[in-house]
Amino acid sequence: MESYQDGNYGEFGGVYLPEGLASIVADLAAKYSELKADPTFQNQLRTLYREYANRPSLLYDAARLSEEVGGPKIYLKREDLNHTGAHKINNVIGQGLVAKALGKTKLIAETGAGQHGTATATIAAYLGIACEIYMGARDIQAQKPNVYRMKALGAKVVQVTQGQGTLKDAVDAALGKYAQEVDQAYYLLGSAVGPHPYPTMVRDFQKVIGEEIKQQVQEKEGRLPTAVVACVGGGSNALGAFTAFIPDEEVEIVAVEPAGKGKLSGKHGLALGTGVPDVIHGFKTLVLNDEKGEIKESYSAASGLDYPGVSPILSMYKESGRLTLGEVTDREAVDALIRLSRLEGIIPALESAHAIAYLFQNPGKYQAGDLVVVNLSGRGDKDVENVFDNLGVEV
Ligand SMILES: *Cc1c(COP(=O)(O)O)cnc(C)c1O
Repeated sequence: MESYQDGNYGEFGGVYLPEGLASIVADLAAKYSELKADPTFQNQLRTLYREYANRPSLLYDAARLSEEVGGPKIYLKREDLNHTGAHKINNVIGQGLVAKALGKTKLIAETGAGQHGTATATIAAYLGIACEIYMGARDIQAQKPNVYRMKALGAKVVQVTQGQGTLKDAVDAALGKYAQEVDQAYYLLGSAVGPHPYPTMVRDFQKVIGEEIKQQVQEKEGRLPTAVVACVGGGSNALGAFTAFIPDEEVEIVAVEPAGKGKLSGKHGLALGTGVPDVIHGFKTLVLNDEKGEIKESYSAASGLDYPGVSPILSMYKESGRLTLGEVTDREAVDALIRLSRLEGIIPALESAHAIAYLFQNPGKYQAGDLVVVNLSGRGDKDVENVFDNLGVEV
């Protein structure tokens, strides 16, 4: 189905870069192929997952949530319990080890919600190398605690004011800096996007989530789940949760995208739901487009989901009919954040709350006897202030 060597996923993926950068990612692809087959690298990865990230993460039987939704038994995959509070640590451990194997002395990254920046700053500190994080001005305002966390970890946080001051603009700025410093620097991408080999690498480093789910559901229930549900920004936590289940055709794969202020408002991030094939940030995928065929700004109250493209791997699965798509608005996500907090004593990230909201939005879809696993991609400590002060929660 996918041709790993050239990084093509159906009609998506590939490398669309100027020659200089293209040869750099080609070198990276060759190095990654080597490392992927290297038992020493794989051992280092497994050890850090366990000893540093706190894996395996728990699979939690959410009894009160299940009762409230009515029908299926719902499990939450607790990526929020990982070191740094989200699934992103899995990816930075993997790419940090790749950077080290390449002899790099500095990590450059972009960040939206600040979670990826925090995770990157964390692994840079662990490896004892420099770290520069590019972040949109709007996101810096919305995510102050993560900015202080990155500074505490020794990273330099660079404020990006161009464009809308969001994730897409931060990517542009970070890539510009990287082009100047390719010899010492490693570009650490935060999701399963970008030119080959990034989507493959990030998927490989996150797929431990679904491998654990499969084993844990087998131990607890002795069968496969009915459905696996995850929110989609760039698609890394979703691919992490989904990959192990792709060959199991009886398992429904539900990808929930941010509908922002509503599909009809045009202010959303429904790249899989409404995007068209286009090239963005060096790769081809489904991208939000305006009437003129130009890339359109995305919008979501959840900074981590605010990206106009999506993983080429998910675009391929969408086109092949493997995905069920969900659409959840800001309002529904905020509501789900509060409801899960009060039902289970677990405050989800606003991103993850999109996946929870899908269940409230579709009561009756799953029946008694069904098993649904929701990937709880991260914790919501970073969001509670914004939810109460700006997103209009009335309590
Ligand atoms: C960054 C982030 C996301 C979105 O990124 P993906 O690559 O789509 O997973 C989702 N949830 C949390 C908690 C995040 O920090």
